[in-house]
Amino acid sequence: MIGEIWASNETSENISYLTEELENRFSGTPQEREAAEYVKGKLEEYKLDNPTLESFDILGWKRGETHLSLHCASEIELDCIALPYSPSKNVEAEIVDLGYGLEEDFEENVEGKIVLVNNETPEYKGRTVHRGEKYLQAVEGGASAFVYQNTTPGNLPSTGSLGSNKLGPIPGIAISKETGDKIRRISSDGEIQKASISVKAESGNSTSQNVYASVSGDNNKKKSEILLGGHLDGHDISPAAEDNASGTTTLLEVARVLSKHRDLLGSKIRFVSFGSEEMGLVGSKEYTKAHNLDNINLMINMDGVGVAREPKVITCKTDYIPGLVDKVSSYLHYPLDIEDYISPLSDHWSFLRKGVPVCYLFPNSKTSGRGWSHTPMDTLDKVKVKDVKESAMIVALLLIELSNLEKSFPRPNPETVKKNLEERGLKKQLEWFKD
Ligand SMILES: [Zn+2]
Repeated sequence: MIGEIWASNETSENISYLTEELENRFSGTPQEREAAEYVKGKLEEYKLDNPTLESFDILGWKRGETHLSLHCASEIELDCIALPYSPSKNVEAEIVDLGYGLEEDFEENVEGKIVLVNNETPEYKGRTVHRGEKYLQAVEGGASAFVYQNTTPGNLPSTGSLGSNKLGPIPGIAISKETGDKIRRISSDGEIQKASISVKAESGNSTSQNVYASVSGDNNKKKSEILLGGHLDGHDISPAAEDNASGTTTLLEVARVLSKHRDLLGSKIRFVSFGSEEMGLVGSKEYTKAHNLDNINLMINMDGVGVAREPKVITCKTDYIPGLVDKVSSYLHYPLDIEDYISPLSDHWSFLRKGVPVCYLFPNSKTSGRGWSHTPMDTLDKVKVKDVKESAMIVALLLIELSNLEKSFPRPNPETVKKNLEERGLKKQLEWFKD
């Protein structure tokens, strides 16, 4: 099976189609639909059971013109883009720099002001402070607009939605590292009187979709299933190769080989490609509403997998995962990093909050920050096909182990999970992901 993954050209073809044939895979667009049709077609070609495309309603959003200008002795116009789900609005106000935009930074009065924060979290925080948390802090502090600065150099604003399937209450824009640095320079000279932001965007009813299919083992011993998922949508400004054409391609490759090796599986594996993750986990939330989750023994989510050779395994505090991962790792003589904490930052959260055991596979890149993802630079050349193949190999072996596991994963209590996250300071993050 591993040899089949190495020798096949499917990985290369699939990721090229998703990133270069389609302009982007933005939520609710015809291109996202085409990507979903493509995934469905591949699942049919790989002879999975019942490939299905399931549509759902979402709030669509389309960017128009966006402007940012500083009022100094003369007017300085700066490059910027609107953040998805920003409302259309014009704002003129004082601009304040709150650095990382952590809870403590918002002790400053931001009422009526334009808040500037960067997209990084300092090391000592021990977790990622998500854009949504920073935005909600700005909203609650009464800010008039939100400016989100990327910290990766290269004149690259980094995008990301301002709400989960709904418009944010105040306009939000993204700027590059260089633009943010320029604002700081001018303001330290005391030259800025005020700043103006103008966002034009359209929003309205739209349709997105999930695609799913399954593979039954030849000797299914039990009723329970393992669900392997990952989102297929990306942002409108990006080919979204790392995030998440790489995970989608990994999912397709695992589906392809396991469909041929049903004799190795002890239970059914369900494969789900979610739409509209980038707009607030919308597809996975819809999936958990439309399907009975009782038989899902474990949900595994892949976001960015395939970017950095082997995935990093985030257990989300699900029992048995570390032991199983160690088993696959020693069988392959292939080191796999495990991190034992709960992260709500991708589609697995939709399942965990409903009491389904989950684990999250994430790229094991050692760099800080978001890298290329959510920027126009997230192009095909950033993903090595060889890395996607290594990830597919590991995930396929892990699924075989899991499907033959006699015991069931203990089902988490959603209230305990919520408490754990709140104690770690993630209350705002949960609020942001709420329906
Ligand atoms: Zn993603």
